[in-house]
Amino acid sequence: MSRSIDLLAIAAHPDDVEQTCGGTLIRMAERGYRTAVVDLTAGEMGTRGTPELRLEEAAAAGKEMLLAERHNLHLPDARLENTLEARLAVAAKIWELRPRVVILPYGQARHPDHYRASEIGFEGCFLAGLKKLDLAAAPHRPAKVLYSSIYADVRPTFVVDISAQFERRMRALLCYRSQYESRAEAAHLFPEQEAVAERIRAAARQYGMLIHTRYGEPFVVREMMRVDDVIRLGTPSF
Ligand SMILES: [Zn+2]
Repeated sequence: MSRSIDLLAIAAHPDDVEQTCGGTLIRMAERGYRTAVVDLTAGEMGTRGTPELRLEEAAAAGKEMLLAERHNLHLPDARLENTLEARLAVAAKIWELRPRVVILPYGQARHPDHYRASEIGFEGCFLAGLKKLDLAAAPHRPAKVLYSSIYADVRPTFVVDISAQFERRMRALLCYRSQYESRAEAAHLFPEQEAVAERIRAAARQYGMLIHTRYGEPFVVREMMRVDDVIRLGTPSF
């Protein structure tokens, strides 16, 4: 059995984490934490590429993000439902990976898969802690759930400085060549890539400004944040 994971991100589609919390995953991996991603679907309803190709691209992006592991649950893309089967599939991954902290998509989103992924992720983590759900499994719940809120119109609880990780995160996103490239050869950025790169950069820059740095990734947590040392708080007042 592999060593347990420190930080696990659960998302609906391959390429979601690259757009939302990839910089934080990279930064934590650079600090020596073991990081992983569980994608709930393989994106098989997408108009571009094939699921096989997207999984290959996801693996390449995972390497770029320094992930220890990346898994796909192959739940139905574009019609993700919060079923017991889906929740149990997440719970089984929680038992296997035993994450200390889990990142989920923020619960309000335009794409139904994204808000359902948020619910399925949270309820899967809850189920995973039940002693009597599966007597063969050792129950486990993460200590903390963070919601990645970059595309939500909500004030984040905190922002992670990803200035040093931003370019690597962008390279990870561009591993999805079937999604973002109009031709196979990659001599320079194509219009589609340029549009997505501009959007990603603008969002990261906006949150970076809020913490007086270049690029940032926002998160929401449901619980009140506790502070033990007010001398070492980030983001100066002046
Ligand atoms: Zn998505």
